[in-house]
Amino acid sequence: MAKDEEDDLLPDKDAAKGFYAKYEPKEILGRGISSTVRRCIEKETGKEFAAKIIDLGATTESGETNPYHMLEATRQEISILRQVMGHPYIIDLQDVFESDAFVFLVFELCPKGELFDYLTSVVTLSEKKTRTIMRQIFEGVEYIHAKSIVHRDLKPENILLDENHNVKITDFGFAKQLQEGEKLTNLCGTPGYLAPETLKCNMFEGSPGYSQEVDIWACGVIMFTLLVGCPPFWHRKQMVMLRNIMEGKYSFTSPEWADISEDPKDLIRKCLVVDPSQRITVKEVLRHPFFNQMLRKQSRFNARKKFQFAILVIRAIIRIRRLRFTAEPLHVEEAIRDPYRVKVLRKVIDGCAFRVYGHWVKKGEGQNRAALFENTPRTELHALYINNLSR
Ligand code: ADP
Ligand code: MG
Repeated sequence: MAKDEEDDLLPDKDAAKGFYAKYEPKEILGRGISSTVRRCIEKETGKEFAAKIIDLGATTESGETNPYHMLEATRQEISILRQVMGHPYIIDLQDVFESDAFVFLVFELCPKGELFDYLTSVVTLSEKKTRTIMRQIFEGVEYIHAKSIVHRDLKPENILLDENHNVKITDFGFAKQLQEGEKLTNLCGTPGYLAPETLKCNMFEGSPGYSQEVDIWACGVIMFTLLVGCPPFWHRKQMVMLRNIMEGKYSFTSPEWADISEDPKDLIRKCLVVDPSQRITVKEVLRHPFFNQMLRKQSRFNARKKFQFAILVIRAIIRIRRLRFTAEPLHVEEAIRDPYRVKVLRKVIDGCAFRVYGHWVKKGEGQNRAALFENTPRTELHALYINNLSR
């Protein structure tokens, strides 16, 4: 972007003297509907931060402009941020500046950016890496829920990574603190991550409303997406996707799942339970075997099992030694017919697709990421293909 153009986007400098006196704004790190996030430098210390500059006069999602409403919403975001900050996996708010037209929120900087972009660059995460990231997310969510707060917009775009690749949950713009037993009814969040009870609130009168359980559902969607690269409920037609969500219709049938163990699948199943009262809670999540592999390994001594394990290890070592001389048999016909079933080829195909089409993956919805993984022909194309073959 040209320098002049960038300067035009900066708010009126007189309006927030305090901010500009203390910080020097730099390049844009991200944008939302009514906010721009820029890297900035604290003049006195030279330390880097991220400033979220909220335009109170911006048009909201519903198409209206209401500075008073925006200010109220921002104040609520600030109040929640102040309650949850201080946790290692939640973003720290360093400073706030308020003017008539803009609010400046100065956060700790997350130099490694969004989890969304990290996932796009690596296509899928290993079980081990998923365990590390998801444990941190769930620990952050546990802290948020313990304060009776519901985040309502958990998704890889709102999960940032710090210098050491540790998670920082951010964007508390939709977060809400609940009174004892209070339920919410308004539709907010991002389509692919919405829980069934949130959708039902807006479709059926007399729905009981929703609360913290929606965050666990969203975490289930995130975990599914991290492991295989595409989201669980995706469909080209959004209405079908929303119906799939309400029915909890997803599966572990794509070829990627064949290489993934039972523990993460079990945890995802427990997060993506349609009935919120039956859904796993964050405390139970953190006790799940997926996060407690060590506990599993420390089971009581069993001589027979130990012996069987020793034999297994020896056989494995012999096989690995032999592998050096005998490559894994790969039938050319099989690879031509269904290359996606072969793990190495699948990695190459997905990697190429992301290198060529990765920029198509749009933020804010996370849905067309799934289009890159669509490896079965569309019905209409499939029919055409069959017709051509039979001619
Ligand atoms: P919005 O409510 O408009 O979605 P966010 O708080 O989610 O605003 O910020 C928008 C984007 O700005 C994020 O998705 C991220 O890319 C970037 N961003 C926000 N905060 C930081 C930060 N502390 N460090 C680095 N990038 C950030
Ligand atoms: Mg956001």
